[in-house]
Amino acid sequence: MKKDIHPEYHKTLVHCACGNEFETGSTKKEIKVEICSMCHPFFTGKQKLIDTAGRVERFKSKYAKFNKNKAL
Ligand SMILES: [Zn+2]
Repeated sequence: MKKDIHPEYHKTLVHCACGNEFETGSTKKEIKVEICSMCHPFFTGKQKLIDTAGRVERFKSKYAKFNKNKAL
């Protein structure tokens, strides 16, 4: 490696919004992230459903009505 052209590379503590912390290597001393492998739905298997327009609620009420009609 050439001298003086490389940024300093050191151990970095990464803080996640979920409270998880882990070490990695970076030129930065501290990294803050919103999602990590401990809390990402892909790794946890839990789905975080983001229902912005109330579509799920609307579907549920519609489906409930449908079942009611069927029962009659
Ligand atoms: Zn996390």
